Amino acid sequence: MSKSKSINPVTGDSIAVYNRMSTQEAITKIETAHAAFKTWKTTTYAERAKLLNKLADVFEKNKEDYAQLATLEMGKTIDQARKEVEKCAWICKHYADNGAELLKDVLVATEASKSYVTYQPLGVILAVMPWNFPFYQAIRFAVPALMAGNTGVLKHASNVQGCAFALEDALLQAGFPEGVFINLNLPSDAMEAVIAHKHIVAVTLTGSAHAGKSVASIAGKHLKKTVLELGGSDAYIIMADADLEAATDLATYGRLQNNGQTCIAAKRFIVLDAIYDDFLKRFTEKMKRAKMGDPTHKDTVYGPLARFDLRDELHKQVEKTIAQGGQLILGGKIPEGKGAYYPATILADLKPSMEAFDEELFGPVASVIRAKTDTEAVALANNSKFGLGAGVITSDKEKGEALALQLEAGNCFVNKLVASDPRLPFGGVKESGYGRELSGDGIKEFVNTKSVWID
Ligand code: NDP
Repeated sequence: MSKSKSINPVTGDSIAVYNRMSTQEAITKIETAHAAFKTWKTTTYAERAKLLNKLADVFEKNKEDYAQLATLEMGKTIDQARKEVEKCAWICKHYADNGAELLKDVLVATEASKSYVTYQPLGVILAVMPWNFPFYQAIRFAVPALMAGNTGVLKHASNVQGCAFALEDALLQAGFPEGVFINLNLPSDAMEAVIAHKHIVAVTLTGSAHAGKSVASIAGKHLKKTVLELGGSDAYIIMADADLEAATDLATYGRLQNNGQTCIAAKRFIVLDAIYDDFLKRFTEKMKRAKMGDPTHKDTVYGPLARFDLRDELHKQVEKTIAQGGQLILGGKIPEGKGAYYPATILADLKPSMEAFDEELFGPVASVIRAKTDTEAVALANNSKFGLGAGVITSDKEKGEALALQLEAGNCFVNKLVASDPRLPFGGVKESGYGRELSGDGIKEFVNTKSVWID
């Protein structure tokens, strides 16, 4: 029987080993989720909202345990892990309060005696999720999907199965019926059989473009809808009139939060010529001062990467960029000692076609790019195969908004780091994926938008 392992990235030690399910066991679970759907879809929004509020209580009650588990399995700082669990509770409450309103029937005036649009659940949705926000990513899918009356099966990342089983248990503790949300501990090569199964009606994936393409092509073969939230290389334009203290605080936090492993992290800083040197100097000082270390310590700003292979891959990308002419300003060396650590690193004077300009660097590595004019800054920001988030930092909000509208990304913020918020849709364009999560757009991804006409 194959196994998945949770390894503490701080020490490299094994935390737990989980037996994988066989494909046949997974299919039995899918049948259970399908049986649960038949009853779950008949429950009222009020009943679902009640359970979501209970789930929020479970997150609040178990916050410390869940946070410790996430930190142990993937190395995020304990404070950020606690905030992740709090955000899960917020999403539960948000959809408990707003889900029914978001899904209410819409009357449409036609020649019919009555015509309207109604939103009905689809069935069992498969969610393939990553390790970087092991609780939040799965909850961002599950809460709206379940509120709409679907049931869900989770294929979580192999290195965070402790969190995956804790999530399954959290829903049971909240009182959700058996089968409404099930964790499938499967390897990714078992996904074809799962996606093909007649009771899986749609798939959502958050992760790399590579995983997204693979899952979407299988789903396409079986004519099943997909929503993909993939990587990004978010550009932040730092305008000449920006408050540099605030801009460099934002850049430092934006690049180091979650140990640099966030799809919507600030990754490329496109800085106007007039302030480029000053920005780089202040940013370098702040990145240098940020304390790398044990994520369970209170004063640690960033911990190790989630896995050793991810750290080694990141280092290769840094070396490749330097070989291509990028300037190494800070970091760039694998530290000695235990743990999958990588230091805060700055690469500057980057140009299109260099690795750190073109690809996603999933770790504490910042790419700094010089732009002569606002127009060139926008062109550089848009010169990317990704389009998840982007930002503008300026003291002129009107100008900031005008530039934000020109940026090719799903989430464009002025003077603030891009963050997901259940009140707003979240998702990308280009190779950052398609479809939306959260808000009314997100909850309507996995419903049958049905037109009803009574003549
Ligand atoms: P992956 O995209 O490989 O993993 C994300 C999820 O997809 C995991 O559950 C994984 O399972 C699963 N998966 C991977 N390949 C397939 C496949 N062919 N079919 C079905 N499921 C699959 O991310 P990695 O952990 O390898 O990280 C690599 C890179 O991905 C990062 O460096 C970063 O660039 C990007 N990434 C982006 C994230 C985001 O938030 N958008 C989150 C995480 C990573 P398993 O763990 O079993 O392989």
